[in-house]
Amino acid sequence: MGTAEQNIIVKTSTEIEVMQQANSIVAGVLQMLQQEMRPGLTTRQMDRWAHDYCRDHGAVPAFLGYRGFPASLCVSINEQIVHGIPSKKVKVREGDIVSVDFGTVYNGFYGDSAVTIPVGKIPAHKEKLLKVTQEALERGIKQVRIGNRIADVSAAVQSYAEEHGFSVVRQFVGHGIGSDLHEAPEVPNYVQNQPSPRIVEGLVIAIEPMINIGTANVKVLKDGWTVITADKKPSAHFEHSVAATKNGPLVLSRRQEELEKKQELQEL
Ligand code: MG
Ligand code: MG
Repeated sequence: MGTAEQNIIVKTSTEIEVMQQANSIVAGVLQMLQQEMRPGLTTRQMDRWAHDYCRDHGAVPAFLGYRGFPASLCVSINEQIVHGIPSKKVKVREGDIVSVDFGTVYNGFYGDSAVTIPVGKIPAHKEKLLKVTQEALERGIKQVRIGNRIADVSAAVQSYAEEHGFSVVRQFVGHGIGSDLHEAPEVPNYVQNQPSPRIVEGLVIAIEPMINIGTANVKVLKDGWTVITADKKPSAHFEHSVAATKNGPLVLSRRQEELEKKQELQEL
């Protein structure tokens, strides 16, 4: 008989520093994609830029070849939720929302983060979806406190998303992260009726809400990878890698752009 805490590998502060470096390269990739996003760009070009940036910064793209995934970057447009495969045939268009998910390995440790990027001007319902999903992630991050449980993270994400009329994907969840990309514990974006692990110092998790405008149900396309919403309504995905420290949650994958936005809000 195990406990809910079984198999969780906590990290030392030195290991967390290495993970911060791995994640800062991920953040650099995502911020570059935010800056470069425009109508007509192919998803293959995004993948190339991500791969090259990662290599130029001394890291290895974590998703390339992972369980056979054929690219470095996952690119999922509109009703695609996660695991979209980049292609030279796919160009993004004005009004699309594009979820980009990237991972690195650096000095033996993984980084993992995702962001959903608007292409040009997007309709109001998509704008609201992005805002709510990003805020749901922030609510989840705030719960990464020693003594809390993973279920506190799940509840914060779920309640915020559902209060705004959206649904939470069940089939895919966040995860522990460290010297493996996916470690214990699972970090669901909804509350499960089962014991939930305690958050202890040195726990590092990737929190990654996948939030849908319509049904929570998903389908997988014939390529064996791309996950879409069953009703083909839009979906958003935001992810950060977060360490539990004595001083509270430490987000390892913050983008410069996010820090500047927070600074602006504080100065208002
Ligand atoms: Mg990811
Ligand atoms: Mg992840």
